[in-house]
Amino acid sequence: MILLLFLCYYIIMKRIREIRIGKICLGGDHPVAVQTMWDKAIDVIDETLIASINKLETFGCQLIRFAAPTLDSVTILGEIAERINMPLVADIHFDYKIALECMNYNIPKIRINPGNIGAPWKVEEVIKKAKDTNTVIRIGANGGSLPKDLKKMKNRAEAIVKAAEDQLEFLEKLNFHNIVVSLKSSDIEENYFTNEAFYSRHDYPLHLGITEAGPLIPSIVKSSIGLSRLLEKGIGNTIRISISDDPLKEVIAANEILSALKLNSTKRVDLISCPKCARSSFDTHTFTQEIQDYLYSVDKDISVAIMGCMVNGPGESSHADIGISGVGNTIAIFKKGEIIRRETACSAKEAFIEEIEKL
Ligand code: SF4
Repeated sequence: MILLLFLCYYIIMKRIREIRIGKICLGGDHPVAVQTMWDKAIDVIDETLIASINKLETFGCQLIRFAAPTLDSVTILGEIAERINMPLVADIHFDYKIALECMNYNIPKIRINPGNIGAPWKVEEVIKKAKDTNTVIRIGANGGSLPKDLKKMKNRAEAIVKAAEDQLEFLEKLNFHNIVVSLKSSDIEENYFTNEAFYSRHDYPLHLGITEAGPLIPSIVKSSIGLSRLLEKGIGNTIRISISDDPLKEVIAANEILSALKLNSTKRVDLISCPKCARSSFDTHTFTQEIQDYLYSVDKDISVAIMGCMVNGPGESSHADIGISGVGNTIAIFKKGEIIRRETACSAKEAFIEEIEKL
């Protein structure tokens, strides 16, 4: 019983090692950070590219990862790092020289798999330079790419943990601790037990995600269920929602999950909108589509309602800080259920944004 209480206390009160990645920190008392991964090869850096990356940050992304498949790609990432505000992470496989090259630039974190970098001396070279440049290294294991010997283990969650622990042991023997760990599976149960087991034994920040989670809807369902169980227990220091779609959607989904769990670190709009029915004479679907980019970029801790009719709309959303609904061409803007302004359909969006800005 005493042992059980001690274990509960340890799990609840556990303090995670603080790791700095450029301007953000993971672990310690820091909130869970949102990250995504850029989904295209980059040949040219232009204003459109920089604006697209910056838009991710406006929507609540705090860390951006890029694949670095060649030495030339590192030069491009180095230039991008100088032109954006988010800390940049380089994702490296196989070639230790790419990892070494990254550390010549403003790239505060790299992701490597020591298992595919090759001979131990190559990993040692990488660690030596990471120590000199204060670079964070993400290591970890994925259920789909376990080493051969571990694939035989019956308990796959334990096999994933063991794969990560083997990498960790190697880095710790080199007296390197500036580490973030990820343990991923596409099975949400396996993902849960893997991360819970690792968390109970180590104090390194964890990067959470359900790997290969699929297109938008399946990914959001799996990620919400799979990650919320961990996050509610205080497990996980940064999340990436893997979606076969635009990285912007990954950022929105991550922030929605954190907001729903009241774990968001940045102020975000809580969007309430009705599904619409035959009573609707205000097209909530179109209006929400038109205004959601603005709402995702608003730095305010407010609730905003977009409701389809005046019969139920203002009443059902009377808890919202501000809302909009209408009948035909007459659109009403309300605060806490009380109408404060009437507009036509044409001027509704502009007027609504004006009132949100005042809050
Ligand atoms: S708010 Fe009005 S339009 Fe929307 S679902 Fe409810 S009854 Fe239907």
